[in-house]
Amino acid sequence: MIKVGLTGGIGSGKTTVARIFETLGIPVYYADDAAKRLMNSNEELKPLIIKHFGEESYQHGELNRKYIASIVFNDKEKLELLNSLTHPVTMQDALVWMNKQTSPYVIKEAALLFESGAAEQLDYIIGVYAPQHIRVKRVMDRDKTTIEEVMKRVSRQIDEEMKMKLCDFVITNNDQQLVIPQVLELDKKFKALAVEI
Ligand code: ATP
Repeated sequence: MIKVGLTGGIGSGKTTVARIFETLGIPVYYADDAAKRLMNSNEELKPLIIKHFGEESYQHGELNRKYIASIVFNDKEKLELLNSLTHPVTMQDALVWMNKQTSPYVIKEAALLFESGAAEQLDYIIGVYAPQHIRVKRVMDRDKTTIEEVMKRVSRQIDEEMKMKLCDFVITNNDQQLVIPQVLELDKKFKALAVEI
């Protein structure tokens, strides 16, 4: 089975594109959702988070999101530390999940595929590209937030153009090109590649 990564900058439309693949019957692993679930439930990860971020990290066994967010939001090193704890556990969970699927190919959607090293466990990577001004506007509308907040999140990610160069395929999700035909074309390509294996 072919393992495909789906990545892109904040607000590029990763989730939107992933949902289209899902409507075609392709299983999708959402890494951010999985990481949140694993922070609550994974018995290896919880003690590590407590060790580095303190007992307040959990309340009644559940991750204290507000507390963790208040620490990592303005501290790049702390964010990187949290990611370095969650990424290996999420990567392992994704691998187990992907290997259980029976479709010709599966998709792992993640914002930080290259940064986390997860790209190495995948056969192909799709990048979702949208110009920065469109991404910022979409996230402001979606999250009802300010340009300053969105720009802070954008500045933490690696350069979008550079990221797209690392991808095997790019879906352009600006306001001009239709997305569904691009997804259908890739679906055809991966199904053909799966037959060849
Ligand atoms: P994040 O990195 O924050 O998780 P994302 O890359 O998953 O974001 P989405 O949540 O899919 O991006 O898209 C961001 C917002 O833009 C959503 O509200 C989505 O509905 C909207 N959006 C995505 N693509 C388009 C499009 N082609 N036209 C209009 N709106 C779009």
